[in-house]
Amino acid sequence: MTRPARDLTSILENCANEARKQIGQGRVADYIPALARINPHQFGMAVCGVDGTEWSIGDSDTPFSIQSISKVFTLALALQSPGAAGVWDRVGREPSGTAFNSLFQLEAEQGLPRNPFINAGAIVITDVITSHFVSPVLQILGLVRKYANCEQIYIDEEVARSEAESGHRNAAIAHLLKSQGNLEASVEDVLAAYYRQCSIAMTCRDVARAFLPLAAGGQHPLTGETLMPALRAKRINSLLLTCGLYDGVGNFAFRVGIPAKSGVGGGIAAVIPGQYAICVWSPELDELGNSLAGTRALEVFADETNLSVF
Ligand code: GLU
Repeated sequence: MTRPARDLTSILENCANEARKQIGQGRVADYIPALARINPHQFGMAVCGVDGTEWSIGDSDTPFSIQSISKVFTLALALQSPGAAGVWDRVGREPSGTAFNSLFQLEAEQGLPRNPFINAGAIVITDVITSHFVSPVLQILGLVRKYANCEQIYIDEEVARSEAESGHRNAAIAHLLKSQGNLEASVEDVLAAYYRQCSIAMTCRDVARAFLPLAAGGQHPLTGETLMPALRAKRINSLLLTCGLYDGVGNFAFRVGIPAKSGVGGGIAAVIPGQYAICVWSPELDELGNSLAGTRALEVFADETNLSVF
């Protein structure tokens, strides 16, 4: 894989200039108190090519809370765990059309979450990990560090505590799943692991590197290691495209056209298969929970590079 040979420096400058015009128009995720305190005026972007070249701009070395971006890593881990065979019996692969933390679809659909990226589906995926590994959080952190090729990646325990204290909807989802027979481990153990996975702190450069295996058919261009079969990378990318942006996934595909996963910390990780892994971060969100400036930056990137999956 040696495709990227172009210089993206001026394109990233245009992305940043356009994206920064959005700052001041959204709201940080204040339902998690520790996230409400963040400086909303930050913007960073990093792009990694499958040949190992990297570009970055703005606050691309500032660690941020990856939140739901972690759901991509836990899915990758569950799919290589001893519980892998049961994953798709317990979680669907369809867009949800409801808010990421919605309960009513779960009730209507007898405990089968629509996909692994809404909270209900992600909690089931974390259950697969919790019920098959003695130290689930260490397993998750180990996978993230390996994907990012960086041993320094850490969990922000203050954010994890804050999530646990304010996570009433997630607790309700986990209890509902338990009552519906779709949670094996205890509610407490699964939620403890879930809050800590969401509280992993990474920089844009870390996240972009960590998504490189999805851009490179399962291989890590920086280490040469095969981290997943090519078919699994393709399938995870398809889920990013259809389920990665909460209830805004259709509009994101329309505007940007690149498979991606967002988190309420303001990060968006994106994959252009065979070419680039990208991460943008800016904490202010739109009403659906996606970074406003981040979405704009990716839109400009797709327009100016003429790259999308369409
Ligand atoms: N920890 C967050 C929650 O469970 C993750 C939400 C997100 O980023 O979508 O509410």
